[in-house]
Amino acid sequence: MQRETLPVDVLIVGAGPAGLACAYHLKQLLKHANKAGNGPGEIEIMVIEKARELGAHNLSGAVMDPRALNELLPDWRDRDFPVERVVEDEGIYYLTQTGKVKAPWTPPPLRNHGFPIVSINRLVKWLGELCEAEEILIATETPGQHLTYDGARVTGVQTGDKGVNKQGEQKNSFEPGALIESRVTVLTEGTRGSLTKEASIRLNLHGEMPQTYVLGVKEVWELPKSLSTRGTVYHTLGYPLGQLFGGSWIYSMRDNLISIGLVTDLAYRNPYTDPHYNFQKFKQHPWIKELLRDGKMLGYGAKTIPEGGWFSMPKLYADGLLLAGDSASFLNSQRLKGIHLAIKSGMLAAESILYALKRDDTSSASLRIYKDLVDASWVREELWQVRNFHQAFESGFFGGMFQVAAQFVSSGRGFKAKLLSDETHTHMSKVKELGLKNRDEVLASRAREFDRILTFDKLSDVYKSKTLHEEDQPVHLHVADTEICRTKCREEFGNPCEFFCPANVYEMVADEERGGVKLQINASNCVHCKTCDIMDPYKIITWVPPEGGGGPEYSDL
Ligand code: SF4
Repeated sequence: MQRETLPVDVLIVGAGPAGLACAYHLKQLLKHANKAGNGPGEIEIMVIEKARELGAHNLSGAVMDPRALNELLPDWRDRDFPVERVVEDEGIYYLTQTGKVKAPWTPPPLRNHGFPIVSINRLVKWLGELCEAEEILIATETPGQHLTYDGARVTGVQTGDKGVNKQGEQKNSFEPGALIESRVTVLTEGTRGSLTKEASIRLNLHGEMPQTYVLGVKEVWELPKSLSTRGTVYHTLGYPLGQLFGGSWIYSMRDNLISIGLVTDLAYRNPYTDPHYNFQKFKQHPWIKELLRDGKMLGYGAKTIPEGGWFSMPKLYADGLLLAGDSASFLNSQRLKGIHLAIKSGMLAAESILYALKRDDTSSASLRIYKDLVDASWVREELWQVRNFHQAFESGFFGGMFQVAAQFVSSGRGFKAKLLSDETHTHMSKVKELGLKNRDEVLASRAREFDRILTFDKLSDVYKSKTLHEEDQPVHLHVADTEICRTKCREEFGNPCEFFCPANVYEMVADEERGGVKLQINASNCVHCKTCDIMDPYKIITWVPPEGGGGPEYSDL
């Protein structure tokens, strides 16, 4: 097939905080260097993004540590930055099924006083406008389908085709994806990036420890009156997660809006664990129920969060390639924060690119400076302190709290200098080992709990995520062997995809022809959280980008 070839100097895949910070910072650095007469001359920067518009696929809590933004744009407060509120009031609670106990003090990692509460969609739109004002080319509805290589060197990206039907045939509207050739490609795809996964395997970029994830499920509610006239931040532990690592957040936003969500660790044993259901249970706690009384749910989203930290960080560079943001494990799981690390890693990637372009050498011999810059920055200092945080909880919540207490006084060392994790999905036990009830009964009894006022089934929630895909396109969830789903997986794990997917994409339906059940994939519901790519116990699901523009339309989330 004839594809248009588009040469650029720097290609950034993913217009989130890391990608846009990289583009913006590089543009500023180039201006200064060229003006001073020691720059590489005119450099073309391009950012591609799979969403219909900027911010539509970005989801976060979020209370932002402004440290990196202060460095990127010291005058950000004077530039119409979209602050929801500034944190003035915060508390941590341990929840039992019906009660709550407030922690007498807020541990330093969770102190947010003075930080802005933000909607990441609005933050990304704002960053995008700054980039566009600098004439940086941003192409939305443009997913990166594959990396292109010359041996071990990454030479660019092939973008996704448009106008292909379910059978894989070209429709009248067919538009082939382009070949974007770049001297440096920066992957800032967010959590579990599909190109990052591809590059990690082909170029062996794996970190010391496999990545571990939690799944965050979130709603935005409008309350009859504001939760507080001040910026209020509550975090909770305990109910409904029991021994499982995770917790909730409740943040007051502008007007009467609140952001409320729950993260569930994906290193769970019980295959019937359902992070969406956990969140609905959480809202039934008497305190939360009262808080949401007479309110209205306006928006929904879900996203995995890479929590492995420093030891899960992949090799950050290769010939012609850099990784930044969530794709490269820049997230502090103890602080529940990644936006500041995404921005800073994007900035450090930009500084490394300038260095490489000046030397006219974008091989790993030049780009390795990125790792040196990360190591010399406050990013390493911050992540090194919490290098063992998430792994400490693999033995259970209370054991983990004990380990973490030890880490507080030993600068992250805990009882061992290094705690390493297993892959997230390998923790799952079989139905028989745990003596679980019949899966259909469990699903049916949970469904009866949703009242669509306080608690919602997955389809009602997906509707509020405004998720939309072109219906007549190849399914973007590739299941290598659906026979396993109807036989082995059904028997051994009770088809956990129906539980872990927060958008009802996977459904086991009656097989009229052969009897029994078969897998039905409702791909158009997919909110791009990537849980299935991580959690299916046989590693037969691969998430690939759908046609450009498809996916959720997050706003205010
Ligand atoms: Fe998430 Fe996979 Fe479900 Fe899509 S299909 S919403 S990526 S679990």
